[in-house]
Amino acid sequence: MAYIGGENKPPSAAAGSGCPFCRAPSLEDEDALVVARGELCFVVLNLYPYNPGHLMVCPYRHVAGYVDLTPQETVEVATLTQSALRVLARVSNPSGFNLGVNQGQAGGAGIAAHLHQHVVPRWTGDANFLPVIGRTKALPELLADTRAKLADAWAAAGEPGTTTSTTSGSGSSGSSGPAARA
Ligand SMILES: [Zn+2]
Repeated sequence: MAYIGGENKPPSAAAGSGCPFCRAPSLEDEDALVVARGELCFVVLNLYPYNPGHLMVCPYRHVAGYVDLTPQETVEVATLTQSALRVLARVSNPSGFNLGVNQGQAGGAGIAAHLHQHVVPRWTGDANFLPVIGRTKALPELLADTRAKLADAWAAAGEPGTTTSTTSGSGSSGSSGPAARA
């Protein structure tokens, strides 16, 4: 399941299970790396992050263009983006952020058919070469751990879209799942 890289790109621009952003909400949070679920939009960790905590805010609806969003979806993309900024600031204290939508192939979108807004935390001196070589980098923190940390902080802050399954009650097959939390 790729979100931005060229890897495992969907075979077509159609909605449905071939689109990772259509499929993700139907999976368990842990499996899809979903951090928060709003009414019309959701927040998911990027599988190929530019930096630790690289989140994406997506409408559930399979639309390609920012102008295709309904007014309600537009508001929720913005609201969840603000929540993501607050949660990331609390969890990892970045010194800056990049926010944005890469629209269309020429705009740099990996999955052009399903709109997603990137929220990338930045630290002074981090990986400035990344936009040049256009590749992601190895990250020290496991994505599953990052997801659990952000989902827990999201819930603790009472942000909209808090999911109820941030702690896995019955152990799934994960070998490196987060320790159970109260
Ligand atoms: Zn889609």
